[in-house]
Amino acid sequence: MSNKLSNTRNMGFIAHIDAGKTSVSECVLFYTGRTHKAGNIDDGNTVLDWMAQEKERGVTIVSAATSCEWNGFDINIIDTPGHVDFTAEVERSLRVLDGAVVVLDSVAGVQPQSETVWRQANKYNVPRMVFVNKMDKIGADFDIATQTLVDRLSANPVPIQIPIGAEDKFEGIIDLVEQKAIYYKIGDELGHIDKTTDIPEDLKSKAEKYRSNLIEKVAENDEEFLEIVFSGEEFENEKLKSAIRRVTISNAIIPVLCGTALKRKAIQPMLDAIGAYLPSPLDIPDIIGKEYKGGDTALTRKPDDNEPFAALAFKTVSDPYIGRLIYFRVYSGSIDAGAGVLNTITGKKERMGRIVKMHADDREEIKKVSAGDIAAAVGLKDTSTGHTICAEDKPIILEKITFPEPVVAVSVEPKLKAEKDKLQEALLKMAEEDPTFKVAYNDETAETLISGMGEFHLEIMVERMKRELNVECNTGKPQVAYRETITSNSRAEGKFIRQSGGRGQYGHCVLEVEPRKSGAGFEFVDSIKGGSIPREYIPAVRKGIIEGLNTGNLLGFPVVDIKVTLIDGSFHDVDSSEIAFTIAGSMAVKDAIKKGKPVALEPIMKIEVTTPGDFLGEVIGDLNRRRGQVSETTSIIDTQIIKGSVPLGESFGYANTLRSLTQGRASYSMEFERYDELPKSILKDKMSDQSTSND
Ligand code: GDP
Repeated sequence: MSNKLSNTRNMGFIAHIDAGKTSVSECVLFYTGRTHKAGNIDDGNTVLDWMAQEKERGVTIVSAATSCEWNGFDINIIDTPGHVDFTAEVERSLRVLDGAVVVLDSVAGVQPQSETVWRQANKYNVPRMVFVNKMDKIGADFDIATQTLVDRLSANPVPIQIPIGAEDKFEGIIDLVEQKAIYYKIGDELGHIDKTTDIPEDLKSKAEKYRSNLIEKVAENDEEFLEIVFSGEEFENEKLKSAIRRVTISNAIIPVLCGTALKRKAIQPMLDAIGAYLPSPLDIPDIIGKEYKGGDTALTRKPDDNEPFAALAFKTVSDPYIGRLIYFRVYSGSIDAGAGVLNTITGKKERMGRIVKMHADDREEIKKVSAGDIAAAVGLKDTSTGHTICAEDKPIILEKITFPEPVVAVSVEPKLKAEKDKLQEALLKMAEEDPTFKVAYNDETAETLISGMGEFHLEIMVERMKRELNVECNTGKPQVAYRETITSNSRAEGKFIRQSGGRGQYGHCVLEVEPRKSGAGFEFVDSIKGGSIPREYIPAVRKGIIEGLNTGNLLGFPVVDIKVTLIDGSFHDVDSSEIAFTIAGSMAVKDAIKKGKPVALEPIMKIEVTTPGDFLGEVIGDLNRRRGQVSETTSIIDTQIIKGSVPLGESFGYANTLRSLTQGRASYSMEFERYDELPKSILKDKMSDQSTSND
């Protein structure tokens, strides 16, 4: 088993949109023998992009896991999306993969979205290699692309290959470890290796220079290898190889490779490198979880079949053929199809049902899945993304995947009135698949609101509904999810007293509120002494406070980052009730907020625009008009990269504006960064808009 485990690679390809992730994935599936003809994304005929709409846009959204085999290695490819609006997808895939290959465009180098994903990968300590793709493209430059890893990501890239030629003269690569040249047949669609030779004369000194650099960088980060180098004796390439593996896994260096997915050159050596250098489940730290229904004691599980079964569900998909599929990664133990498991998040016992492995073009039913492996289950009715499933007698809660709260909403209604129920059903299904996509119903306006992480995110969801679930809907204008908070301490009291013969109502409490740090959330402290409010009513007061915080008094958005201390109150022997204390709590907190110098908060998006230098002035001017702030501009050759931030409320329609400002030659990425105070003048306008619309 350990041999199998040490030969397992749970990995993903991560990239900026258009760098060639889909093309690379397809080549991989082609060479690993699971597909017989590699699809070409330009024809919309791809293997991983199975959703019709993805094909049209050429965007990969879903992170499913596809399994394949290469030279004795079992590779599970976890698909990661290229667009930052799908933060949740990226986070959850990074959580379950052990290593990644970052695909770069040989001309553009590191692009904004690769930067975002890179930082997320840093957060999860994911060992990486870089594949510089599109070596055949005009302007391809391996060295410049590699240098962007240093300049833009402060990474430590170390080429383990160098290209032979570039653009239409790209013929193959030199493997700096084996010191061999690998040539591909020009014009061969299938990317057969033409010949493997010694390094040609004209590239010898260059290859030597790069190999010395490789040896030096590896030795700097690995004592065992340093000693070998110091001894001055000749060493076998195997020694260098295992040292590269160690320093890649420890995240000290980033091996850099190159090739072209479109022309299918140098994909096989990259697959070899995945086996040689990326970690197996045995190389990553043991998973840590918490006791079920216990305290915070940490429990550790090893990737071993003899340990109790523990797995994390990382993706829920409604498969058009087999229904609800839960993708999960087994961290410890093993499980048979049909066996019972405990979901420690819902507390429910469930049955695994069938277990399947997804390959590019077929689905394999398997009897058992073991530690370190990834598979999908059919039949786990109550399990969703982020849940732990485990052995009933050895429960554990693995760290949940956390998702940010949506920042933008739009109203939706079905195009055909008769499809109201169908729309509702479709929305719930999609909300289940994507934890950053939420659905709410507003009683006051009788509207259904969908919310998510950005305008593009919501557009995609609406399109998916149309294509996958056959429901068309009209959408309203995007609305910003504002928040409210207080800026100073205050105190208030809430009294709910009704005495009208018979049994009355009596609830009374005194609270203090104080602002908390941005993002710190809500905190409730009970400082009641001497029983001025009986114990049994305190949860009711807390409930009232939470209800009261749901709608702030400025724009009616939730009040966040606030500490509420219950300090005093009184009760009545006969008339006091939970409901009276809930109402008193809500009244008190609303009053306290009013006195606490409330402010509104608006979501601020981090933005990065890449534009040809000619348009720099227009792009910055437009950002300023949107109350944006530019923090940095850098230039790479004749391209300018503008980094900054812009309030979400001013960002709607940015894609169109940017297109027309730059003749479609700029690209951008935007993602939620933080909440900032909404300027008072704008708040005032919004409040007066609201009061007129309420009249
Ligand atoms: P993704 O968005 O990262 O998944 O990228 P795709 O695989 O969809 O590729 C984006 C575009 O780049 C498509 O038009 C591809 O044909 C093209 N492309 C991908 N790989 C290469 C390559 O090696 N060379 C060239 N010249 N174009 C490529």
